[in-house]
Amino acid sequence: MPATAFTNHSPRVWIGCLACYSNGILVGDWFDADIANDVTIIDVHASWVDSHDMYCEEIYCLDSENIPERGGINLERAQAWGDAYDELDSDHLWPAYCAWIDSGMYSEDSSGVGCVSDFLDVFNGQWDSFREFAYTYVVDAGLLTDVPDELVRYIDYDSFARDLQHDYTVMDAEQHGVYIFRNS
Ligand SMILES: [Zn+2]
Repeated sequence: MPATAFTNHSPRVWIGCLACYSNGILVGDWFDADIANDVTIIDVHASWVDSHDMYCEEIYCLDSENIPERGGINLERAQAWGDAYDELDSDHLWPAYCAWIDSGMYSEDSSGVGCVSDFLDVFNGQWDSFREFAYTYVVDAGLLTDVPDELVRYIDYDSFARDLQHDYTVMDAEQHGVYIFRNS
């Protein structure tokens, strides 16, 4: 059945009929990616009853939203992204997961999409800037505990942040700031 209640960032795909497509007719519909494997040739033609004929056999994801992969993808691939979204089980983290994939610094699970548990392991959150992250890192690690106040103000956080950044991947966040991932 076509998807009805989309959540904010859920991956979804426009699944179309390839036979109809080569005849110049765009026949298809939007579906949640996590049901892609269950979508049939009949579902795809549901609102196009007259156009479903014996040549209609193959269906394919011709468009997508909230999937960190360009171009058309097959149904198994769409399902794998949908499963990853369900496994993550946190809609607001999905854009960060997608940014992790876009960074190229990700690890794959057995389905060939980004491994959700690895993502959760390396994701350090959303920050205004890497400098802010570096400052908090210094404070949280207690690096300033024994440093006299007169000296603290001379600390070059920009320089510290530049060095620290070698161990992290920084990607633009959805609306503002950055996502930070620890390099594994
Ligand atoms: Zn068709």
